[in-house]
Amino acid sequence: MQAAAFPAMARPIIPIQPAPATHTVQAAAGAEFDAELLRRLGKSGPRYTSYPTADRFGTDFGYRDYLHAVAGLRTRGGARPLSLYLHIPFCDTVCYYCACNKIVTKKRDKAVTYLAYLKREIAMQAALFAGMNEVEQLHFGGGTPTYLSDAQMDDLMAHLRRSFRFAPDEAGEYSIEVDPRTVSAERVHTLRRQGFNRISLGVQDFDPEVQRAVNRIQPEHETLAVIEAARAAGFRSVSIDLIYGLPKQTLDSMRQTLDKVVAANPDRIAVYHYAHMPHLFKPQRRIEEADMPSSDTKLRMLQLCIERLGAAGYVYIGMDHFAKPDDDLAVAQRQGRLHRNFQGYSTHADTDLVACGVSAIGAVGATYSQNVKTLDEYYELLDQNELPVARGFRLGMDDLLRRSLIQKLMCQFEVSIPALEQAFPIVFADYFAPELARLRQMQDDGLVTIGPDWLSVTMKGRLLIRNVCMVFDRYLAMARAEGPRHSQTV
Ligand code: SF4
Repeated sequence: MQAAAFPAMARPIIPIQPAPATHTVQAAAGAEFDAELLRRLGKSGPRYTSYPTADRFGTDFGYRDYLHAVAGLRTRGGARPLSLYLHIPFCDTVCYYCACNKIVTKKRDKAVTYLAYLKREIAMQAALFAGMNEVEQLHFGGGTPTYLSDAQMDDLMAHLRRSFRFAPDEAGEYSIEVDPRTVSAERVHTLRRQGFNRISLGVQDFDPEVQRAVNRIQPEHETLAVIEAARAAGFRSVSIDLIYGLPKQTLDSMRQTLDKVVAANPDRIAVYHYAHMPHLFKPQRRIEEADMPSSDTKLRMLQLCIERLGAAGYVYIGMDHFAKPDDDLAVAQRQGRLHRNFQGYSTHADTDLVACGVSAIGAVGATYSQNVKTLDEYYELLDQNELPVARGFRLGMDDLLRRSLIQKLMCQFEVSIPALEQAFPIVFADYFAPELARLRQMQDDGLVTIGPDWLSVTMKGRLLIRNVCMVFDRYLAMARAEGPRHSQTV
């Protein structure tokens, strides 16, 4: 899934002892849970998979602007490696919490037509990038990428290899989002043979009652069998997605799910906060409001996740993500190389992101571009031999500066002021005087420290990292005037 999407995610019988409301926990994972602060400061805000955020993209940026951006890369030698994102929008059934751009259908022939057009788009993009750098990163998201059959995936991967040069398996990060309900152990081995070396599994919650409430029935033994198969097949990294705050979820059910996940021993775990925004996402209107856990319970669930995963030895990477200390993400963070893009955290920093498929978002040079969102428009534009770009954004100097700063905060929790002043023609204290004034309150609350050389987010501030980044977001006031679009920061 990309951008504002949430990946594909309780049983209370044994009474548990919740932590006192103001309890402060220092997790081994590297984030401090302070219930009072989170309650007081938690508000809606962007997830900063990009800056400016996708809601700022405009229709004044189109196909020709995209061509211009690629031409600019070529002029500069096209030295950056490429990252490819492919969007497969189809799903068999709808999960009620879903905020992804997907098409729910059982008519498999829809995928046949889509693949023909997707291959056409890939060929057009490959022609544009011909002779430039190789692909170091590939990500299949959706929807459900494994909606495609083995034969369709074989055909698509062969087409990709004919179109682009790929870094060898050991140097590249080739990942796919997998809905465990759609694959057998055999299929997992096939995916590895097809070239994928990272797999991320949508689990959300193991509790049958929660699964019923969100219309995603996924037997535990099936998910565990897929994890086991992924290890046997030689996937370098297995990641599990969970969601907290779902209907019927309780602290007790969450604890049981976490215990099972820890026992399954994945390399990475993402624990997303379910953002209930039925005014924006139609499937969410099928969720019973009465089944939703209270804000206080959700906060305690977050605390439980941090404590449990920290105790199991996972490092808190930031924004819902945990990884084993020897996982590439944790190593990249320690070495200051961590990056954030539309798929979340990544170890490959300086890539140009070429996105193919309906609604897919790319990032080439100093631009963002998003494809049209409906199949009809997608097919129509490709029939006219045009890349199906619907909107985008060209970043100016101020945007690039703020993007760089927000990236550092999201990935490293600190910014070197001299390094930023070296990269951009500014005096930090003057340029960001209004922002620094606003940060003083956060400093008083213990979320950040501001020194002459470093702006750092404290352990307490890490769970409120979005609040800190929002101080530097020049477009936020405009976004707010347009109504609620973002999820809660915790
Ligand atoms: S499987 Fe489809 S409907 Fe369910 S969460 Fe994923 S994209 Fe959404």
